[in-house]
Amino acid sequence: MSVATDYLAVQYPVMEHFYTLQGEGAYAGHAAYFIRLGGCDVGCVWCDVKESWDADVHPKMSVEAIIGAASAYPGRIAVITGGEPSMYDLAPLATGLKAAGFRTHIETSASSPLSGDFDWVTLSPKKFKAPLPENMSWAHELKIVVFNKHDFQWAETYAALVPESCKLYLQTEWDKREQMTPVILEYIRQHPQWSLSLQTHKYLNIP
Ligand code: SF4
Repeated sequence: MSVATDYLAVQYPVMEHFYTLQGEGAYAGHAAYFIRLGGCDVGCVWCDVKESWDADVHPKMSVEAIIGAASAYPGRIAVITGGEPSMYDLAPLATGLKAAGFRTHIETSASSPLSGDFDWVTLSPKKFKAPLPENMSWAHELKIVVFNKHDFQWAETYAALVPESCKLYLQTEWDKREQMTPVILEYIRQHPQWSLSLQTHKYLNIP
């Protein structure tokens, strides 16, 4: 193996990988290949993928195998999610995906040092393990999951730390949606720098 392609042999624990439509944020509605890495040390109480937390129970896949699976579909957006993908050195995976012609997107709490060449960074801070301050400048979109009305102040704290060009999204925690969606709508009416992010994949019952 040549040095130039060593990254293809690097392995990651992969909980699942699938082709679907991005459900949330600025790229909602776009076809994308999702790569859900196993392992998370954040521990959100309302996490809907708790089965991702233990990296050891998920099979390892090489960058080459991941690219091979993703390349079977025509979409050329690859979304790295988790779990918490910032726990890993993502440079090999991002390099491989870009070399194969993919736009590289990541969804992260940014609670560990970010790495890799990403075209779109969705930074979703979690109260259970705060983002690293040096990661805030990576954000193209800030996605705040709103659990109760106190989260708006918390959202503003992080909005002040991202680049001016960063898109700002509020998204209800799924189980609180009936209660919190009207509250979020009113907050956005009063604070129009924010936009609504819906988990459209859950409404559509797609992955
Ligand atoms: Fe779940 Fe994501 Fe929170 Fe980890 S960071 S506990 S995967 S919601």
